Amino acid sequence: MLGAIEAGGTKIVCAVASKNSITQIVERISIPTGTPQETLPKIIAFFKNYEVEGIGIGSFGPIDVDPNSPTYGFITNTPKLAWKNFDFLGTMKQTFDVPYFWTTDVNAAAFGELKYGAATGNENCIYITVGTGIGGGVVLNGKVMEGKGHPEIGHIYINQLASDPFEGHCPYHKNCLEGLAAGPAIEARAGKPAQNIAADDPAWKLEAHYLAEACVNYTLSFSPEKIIFGGGVMKQAHLFPLIRDKFMELLNNYLPIKQVDQYIVPCALQDNAGIVGCLALAEEALKSIDRRTN
Ligand code: ADP
Ligand code: ZN
Repeated sequence: MLGAIEAGGTKIVCAVASKNSITQIVERISIPTGTPQETLPKIIAFFKNYEVEGIGIGSFGPIDVDPNSPTYGFITNTPKLAWKNFDFLGTMKQTFDVPYFWTTDVNAAAFGELKYGAATGNENCIYITVGTGIGGGVVLNGKVMEGKGHPEIGHIYINQLASDPFEGHCPYHKNCLEGLAAGPAIEARAGKPAQNIAADDPAWKLEAHYLAEACVNYTLSFSPEKIIFGGGVMKQAHLFPLIRDKFMELLNNYLPIKQVDQYIVPCALQDNAGIVGCLALAEEALKSIDRRTN
């Protein structure tokens, strides 16, 4: 059995699936993200019902992913103060001594989409969620991309349009991509939630412009085969053609993109991308142990 934990700021989803059919989830639970002291015992109780051989964890962050760091496996600098500097991985390891894959929630979602979703058959993809914030995960050559830390591609700076006076709402950077284009930024400009804005409102052209700029930057930086969008704001399906057109204009044929409608796409696994990704990463963790012992 494989285990998965998708830890988000509002809820934590745990799931188990058999090694042979990862997408057939045997059981899942959703726990509100209380304090670690409230939440971890519930996670542990869930997995105690199963013979779990490996666990994939995709966590909200920032998190420490450097195996050589003394705080590897910790959630580091989160505004959720009860979780700040919490040793998530270490706490799990104390109860379940199995192989783990520890990464961000969005890296897990990117991996899920690569293995079982919109990028099936590819080796390189980017997953971006546009919701309350903007977060992104990167998979290159079939592996989630991490350096000393993990990427935070929702916080890149882009060119703010002169016609857009909004100061930006990112608490760290004001007018980074998240600050200009996440759901709360759309809402602040319009004076109403993004889901209540008409499809022909110019707000969407502005939104598409910023997301297209980000796609150009991701294309130039990472050479993905697909850029996959999820999150509440991307439920506005009419955004996709707007983003693709602006993307092609801004890239200006510098690199060949043959079928842009196959390149910038919606996520296929919907709300399951993260948890399926965590299960697939649990499988990777098991495989790497097998490679070491064989
Ligand atoms: P979270 O990021 O908190 O996990 P969501 O991905 O649903 O959750 O993001 C919430 C944001 O997405 C809010 O700003 C909300 O206004 C916006 N949103 C949710 N549903 C839609 C929709 N159908 N169309 C446009 N915006 C939406
Ligand atoms: Zn930012």
